[in-house]
Amino acid sequence: MKIKTLLFDFDSTLVTIEGIDELARMKGKYQEVSQLTRLAMEGELAFEDVFYRRLEVIQPTGKDLDQLSELYQRSLVPDAITTIHRLREAGLDIGVVTGAYRQAIVSTAKILGIEPEKVWALELTTDEAGFLTRVIPNGLRPTTSGKRDFIISHNFRRQLVYVGDAMTDVYTREVADLFIGFGGVVERRRVRQLADNYVISLEEVGTIVLGINEEE
Ligand SMILES: [Mg+2]
Repeated sequence: MKIKTLLFDFDSTLVTIEGIDELARMKGKYQEVSQLTRLAMEGELAFEDVFYRRLEVIQPTGKDLDQLSELYQRSLVPDAITTIHRLREAGLDIGVVTGAYRQAIVSTAKILGIEPEKVWALELTTDEAGFLTRVIPNGLRPTTSGKRDFIISHNFRRQLVYVGDAMTDVYTREVADLFIGFGGVVERRRVRQLADNYVISLEEVGTIVLGINEEE
């Protein structure tokens, strides 16, 4: 088997932060929100149960998302740029499939060498005053199995590796050829148990994937 496509989660995989927790920090709601995030990422709460609750607590504005975008750009996982460069050089198609917010992550994806059209994320719309009005899922429903369902509906299923840190990422294992759990930012026991491979650096992701392709 030759791997053709690699899809990455974003928060706590390509960057060292959880965007929603940082938005909460800006509003003085960090304790409340980060607890919900952690429980959802560990599979103790369904993602759909925390998604709207967190947004209601935070009420993020367009300005907050701009601020988050800047923070993301300063929070790259150390070997993210070199690993993605190496994989692209080897001819792999690289994308991001994430429950994070598109307008906050595209600039960081660009720094990593991932084009905006290869970034699949949720979108938040804001009104003229900058307040949140609506969530646009872009085919990616904010549910625990949303990423898996997205991969099925986009026919990514062949020769695919998915890399992520959380239980919402583990679901992609059902449809990807390989699921690599990433514990370089946060180590989650259940993810480690269920992953096909588990790594603590992105460099290891490159080594695993290129190793598979060299076996051919
Ligand atoms: Mg994540």
